[in-house]
Amino acid sequence: MHNAPRPLLVDWQWQQRAACRGMNSATFFSPTGERGRARRVREERARRICAGCEVRTVCAATALRHGETYGVWGGLSRDERRRLDHEAAGG
Ligand code: SF4
Repeated sequence: MHNAPRPLLVDWQWQQRAACRGMNSATFFSPTGERGRARRVREERARRICAGCEVRTVCAATALRHGETYGVWGGLSRDERRRLDHEAAGG
């Protein structure tokens, strides 16, 4: 039995220790039409929060594993995750 896959919920228990828990998600997810300086400022604000988060590594890894296309996760923006995916694929 101990070799059986764990329930999916376990994969998300790290979020209980997230520094962003209870914060406004607008810091991490871009509003419709956001671009340029507004996006850079918001993402930098999110990165500063992520920098002090104890679950940053698992957060970033989860976003990469699930192919998250929106938001800052583990201090990585969508574009940064795309670059990492591209590099991992040998591009
Ligand atoms: S790394 Fe950032 S997005 Fe991930 S849980 Fe921590 S504060 Fe939230």
